Amino acid sequence: MSYTYQFKYIIIGDAGVGKSCIMLNFIDKRFRQEHDLTIGVEFGSKMIDSDGTKVNLQIWDTAGSESFKSITRAYYRSAAGAFLVFDITRRDSFQHIAEWLEEARFNGNPNMTMMLVGNKLDLQDDRTVSYEEAAIFARENGLLYKETSAKTGEGVNEVFEELTRTICKRI
Ligand code: GDP
Repeated sequence: MSYTYQFKYIIIGDAGVGKSCIMLNFIDKRFRQEHDLTIGVEFGSKMIDSDGTKVNLQIWDTAGSESFKSITRAYYRSAAGAFLVFDITRRDSFQHIAEWLEEARFNGNPNMTMMLVGNKLDLQDDRTVSYEEAAIFARENGLLYKETSAKTGEGVNEVFEELTRTICKRI
């Protein structure tokens, strides 16, 4: 199938925040209950229509290797966009975003577009990071901000669409 652009996106953040589930939900709308401890990188691709422009997205997921500190520059290389994911019920995963951001800025290309994603929105009642707090952090750091539930699918398409729209505008 033909497309106008092909973008590589990476998904980073602490183990267990839902990175694989976000990718799987977007790619084939399945929700995986089990944590997969495969070491390496999982990869998925999907074509989307962004305001009439066909864009092929290649989505890379660390697939557990984040906890082994083995993410290399190769993972970041040539990524057009990055999702920095935290779990809205786990404050530590939000506090670590600053480190993920630093790593992405260090390893990624300078014009990589980044979006902060607060996942597990279906667990609203247990949230320990407010929308406002995360949105302020995002604004101060030049990131987009969105919330998702990889369990219900809420917001998942939207994060990929918004990141793609933003990158297309910058081309
Ligand atoms: P990763 O280590 O960041 O890739 O996290 P996973 O995608 O493997 O998810 C870790 C755990 O959180 C799994 O048990 C998932 O079923 C669960 N999970 C992921 N996303 C959500 C979500 O949006 N809501 C809820 N309730 N659980 C989720």
